[in-house]
Amino acid sequence: MRATLDGRPTSEYADRPRRLEITLSSDAFYQRLFDNNRDWVRRKLELGDDYFARLAQGQAPEVLYIGCSDSRVTAEELMGAEPGQMFVHRNIANIVSNSDLNALSVIEFAISHLGVKHVIVCGHYECGGVRAAMQPRDLGLLNPWLRNIRDVYRMHHDELSAITDEGERYRRLIELNVEEQCVNVIKTAALQRSYLTKGYPVVHGCVFDLATGLLKDLDIDFGAKLAHIRHVYDLGTS
Ligand code: ZN
Repeated sequence: MRATLDGRPTSEYADRPRRLEITLSSDAFYQRLFDNNRDWVRRKLELGDDYFARLAQGQAPEVLYIGCSDSRVTAEELMGAEPGQMFVHRNIANIVSNSDLNALSVIEFAISHLGVKHVIVCGHYECGGVRAAMQPRDLGLLNPWLRNIRDVYRMHHDELSAITDEGERYRRLIELNVEEQCVNVIKTAALQRSYLTKGYPVVHGCVFDLATGLLKDLDIDFGAKLAHIRHVYDLGTS
């Protein structure tokens, strides 16, 4: 039986709309990945015979990018970043949980060892993770993860409940989720230690609009937003 990349028979997907023309049969798609890779290697080597030799020497990325795992939000491609320029962490709905050893290790390594100058938390409109968190559904193992977003909703309940248009409320929750995950980055000792001693990294909250392809900086003024609670999260790293 033919199966897709996630192991499910293709018949399960038969009634699904073909979103993009690049959709191929699973075997052809998998083989195409290696063909694409060889094309990519060829294009990179046109930039210099030592392209990969230099890449193998090490990394000094300027940016830590924390974004959603959504297949349509291609971190490096949508920003035109080359290999070596962006350290990337992705998960469902771009969450920075205070108990997620994975995300916290990425942040620690990127800031304390790689010395990134910018941390970008990037959400996106039409985020399925955020939409799922807005619905009264039991999603099993996903429940505790999506609860992080439900907590964002609770923290901003007054603002969100005042938005009568459901689509607008959904988009605003996506923006507020980005904002709160930025705050979670700012809570970390790695961020506070580096920022107070070196003046970086700067934290940015962005949203990618799937409908236009455009990236939007939310221009969040964290100094103003955190002024009244700064003492709560101050870890005394200065
Ligand atoms: Zn998403």
